[in-house]
Amino acid sequence: MSKTTPLVRKPAFVFLPPVVAAGVGFALIFQGVSFGAPNFEILEQRRAARVEQGWTPPTLELTDYLYPRLATGFAGSEWVVVNKHRPLSPLDFEPKVREVASSEALDNSRGLELRNVAATALEQMAAEMFSEGVGQLFVNSAYRSYEYQKDLFVSKTEQYGEAEALVRSAKAGYSEHQTGLAVDVSVPAQGCAIMQCFGDTVAGKWIADNSWRFGYIVRYEQDTTAVTGYTYEPWHLRYVGIDIARKYSQDGIHTLEDFWGYPAAENYPEITESTLD
Ligand SMILES: [Zn+2]
Repeated sequence: MSKTTPLVRKPAFVFLPPVVAAGVGFALIFQGVSFGAPNFEILEQRRAARVEQGWTPPTLELTDYLYPRLATGFAGSEWVVVNKHRPLSPLDFEPKVREVASSEALDNSRGLELRNVAATALEQMAAEMFSEGVGQLFVNSAYRSYEYQKDLFVSKTEQYGEAEALVRSAKAGYSEHQTGLAVDVSVPAQGCAIMQCFGDTVAGKWIADNSWRFGYIVRYEQDTTAVTGYTYEPWHLRYVGIDIARKYSQDGIHTLEDFWGYPAAENYPEITESTLD
């Protein structure tokens, strides 16, 4: 029979690893090492290249928007940028949402949900629209889960074929609706619900001019398909917070890609083995 030794951990094994880890942590902090910080040189090069193509950059200095820009990669941030090159991470991300409150100004009879900040902003915007006589806003679509978006994309593909489905709808994990920060609206009394002519209605024009005051932008404007990958959707509003929406509007920016200096994302990247999972 072999002799067994009782498992006794020596103090060095117990105390040394945390001490070493803490030491390495402090060393990195004091050396100014940060993980995931953007490479200013590459960012500047990209901006310069786009300026040459006729792009007007936002007046924010790069360092002013460094931290918000980092947050554009986080699914839970109100600044998240989602497009055909920038899926949510994780792909099946689920935000905390609440039902948008119906009122005389806002018809949410479908019981749709948004993140609290976006829901509150929408309720305030609808109240102002109503008090200005612009009409009662209807919530056509709001938060859509990963599973819902998956089914929606399949049905759009069956209805229009894949090429058309790709510009009309997003793949699951690539939709702004999955963030809980995007909402499709209409004013049924003025017609053109979820149609491009909504942009020509009194409500559509009011929204294009005023939604920034509530932290919303019209995400897919006319003639921006080459950058956003989507056709004109005057009904699709994206909450980005008042500060960013104001800046975006004042600077005459038309896409979030341009605002943050991200490359155009007209099409999904070619499917390669590494992206298949
Ligand atoms: Zn939408």
